[in-house]
Amino acid sequence: METFDYAARMSRAVAAAEAAGLDGLLVSPGPDLTWLTGYQPPAETERLTLLILTRSHAPVLIVPALEALSAVGPVPLLEWRDGSDPYALAAGLLAADGQYGVSDSTWALHLLGLMGARPGTGYRGLSDALPMLRAVKDPVEVSLLSAAGAAADEAYSAIRSVPFAGRRELDIAASLAQLLRDFGHSTVDFTIVASGPNGADPHHAAGTRIISSGDAVVLDFGGLMGGYGSDTTRTVVVDSPSPRLREVHEVVRQAQEAAFAAVRPGVSCQEIDRVARRVITSAGYGERFIHRTGHGIGVTTHEPPYLVEGEERLLVPGMCFSIEPGVYLPGQFGVRIEDIVTVTPSGGRRLNNTDRGLAVVH
Ligand code: ZN
Ligand code: ZN
Ligand code: ZN
Repeated sequence: METFDYAARMSRAVAAAEAAGLDGLLVSPGPDLTWLTGYQPPAETERLTLLILTRSHAPVLIVPALEALSAVGPVPLLEWRDGSDPYALAAGLLAADGQYGVSDSTWALHLLGLMGARPGTGYRGLSDALPMLRAVKDPVEVSLLSAAGAAADEAYSAIRSVPFAGRRELDIAASLAQLLRDFGHSTVDFTIVASGPNGADPHHAAGTRIISSGDAVVLDFGGLMGGYGSDTTRTVVVDSPSPRLREVHEVVRQAQEAAFAAVRPGVSCQEIDRVARRVITSAGYGERFIHRTGHGIGVTTHEPPYLVEGEERLLVPGMCFSIEPGVYLPGQFGVRIEDIVTVTPSGGRRLNNTDRGLAVVH
């Protein structure tokens, strides 16, 4: 795995916290901790693990003594043993009336423990206080996302030659997961295989429905490779499409293309959503596009920035996010097309590059 400049990330985080009016950041096991330190605890547990980043002190990682051996990394450890009070330990490092950002994945148990040990302190969720902390990727991160995207593309190319008709969604999902691993993914986060009417449910979990000739099948899959995410969707048809499916697929393809073409620095996130929605609405399917156009991706597969109405932040080179418009017709089928896109100084660059046409499978 790549090594990153964690010290630089932590000092950037402290500066961003200060600019947001916070005295520091409290980071629990989860994507923020991984991004800031590289440390991934064996499991999130009832024992407190907490990175404390403040202006006044050097970074420190509070860890249960029994996990100290695995917690090697760029941050000095402050160990606590079972039977002692980790919240009092943490509270001793907080200012009496300090305001702190807390990572979203912090258990309520732990936050309540801190609040009890240090009344008078205030807390804000990290994605609320610093939504853009991880949003702008450096070149190494973009290349890792690019490699994960290329691997997902290979999985898509390969899945098109497996038999679909007569098999369950679950069987295709298992093949997709295996292909993602074969092409280098360490974890598979999701393999949506939504056939026929199931395609009208954007997050349908692959099930026992038997796929048959004429079905549209939404394939949306991804996971982590080298610590960074992939997430791509293509909609295929078994044997031959109905005229309606052909029409809807073309509308979604044009919406995806238009949104991609609109990507450039200085354009707002919501504008990308509006561009995609305009195409679908003018084709008469606006009511059937029932989710935002996209989400950021990095050490997780869903994170800021969100391409959604109301998100006025501007695109910046290095941002990486999905563009995934869809149309969902209850009782009939769904169509979604999704690529990860990165913002460059001159426009968007796709990290998924397989054909976006309606592919025929058998
Ligand atoms: Zn989704
Ligand atoms: Zn997806
Ligand atoms: Zn997505």
